[in-house]
Amino acid sequence: LFVTFEGGDGSGKSTQAGLLEEWLLGRGETVLRTREPGGSDLGVELRDIILHRRGHIEPRAEALLYAADRAHHIATVVRPALQRGEVVVQDRYLDSSVAYQGAGRTLDPGEIRNLSLWAAEGLLPDVTILLDLHEDEGRRRLDASRTTYDRLEAEQAEFHQRVRDAYLQLAEAEPARFLVLDATRPAAELAAVIRTRVEELIGG
Ligand code: C5P
Repeated sequence: LFVTFEGGDGSGKSTQAGLLEEWLLGRGETVLRTREPGGSDLGVELRDIILHRRGHIEPRAEALLYAADRAHHIATVVRPALQRGEVVVQDRYLDSSVAYQGAGRTLDPGEIRNLSLWAAEGLLPDVTILLDLHEDEGRRRLDASRTTYDRLEAEQAEFHQRVRDAYLQLAEAEPARFLVLDATRPAAELAAVIRTRVEELIGG
């Protein structure tokens, strides 16, 4: 089973991925918890390049670096885990690229989706949890942790608005794959809804 978490910075993806992992482990599942960018050995290096040079990489070059990270990660880490029957819980996947490199950087979202699918040889998640958060709220939440706040500061509010809208459009286009949740709800409540959905998929 392949589960991905999507949403803006500060939407609580890591918290929810962690809670889901804990619950799955408690049920005796073998879980691979991973992320993009940076979920493979090559990916760690690519993540470093992408994040350190942010704003100084040509949008198409940046999209290709994300695609390279994805191609290597899916082929060497995610597919083998799925073949072993593990549950993969992943922070960000191709929808991030469509939203950030596509809508955010104003490349063509359809082209970015095709590029991502090519990179991942067509692999789509069984379920994608979208933690939807209004941009102002994301900013407020990150205010407490300066490191991420600085990164967010560097980008424009408009950019985040485009990203959020793109996510919501993606969810609308594929309602069977997406579970859209209001990220401002209490974490425990969100975790319960997510568990219910995942439980349906792995069979109560
Ligand atoms: O979620 P995570 O902290 O790993 O993401 C690192 C940064 O890279 C975030 O600021 C996120 O907005 C950005 N990102 C991006 N395009 C992606 C994935 C992440 O711009 N496809």
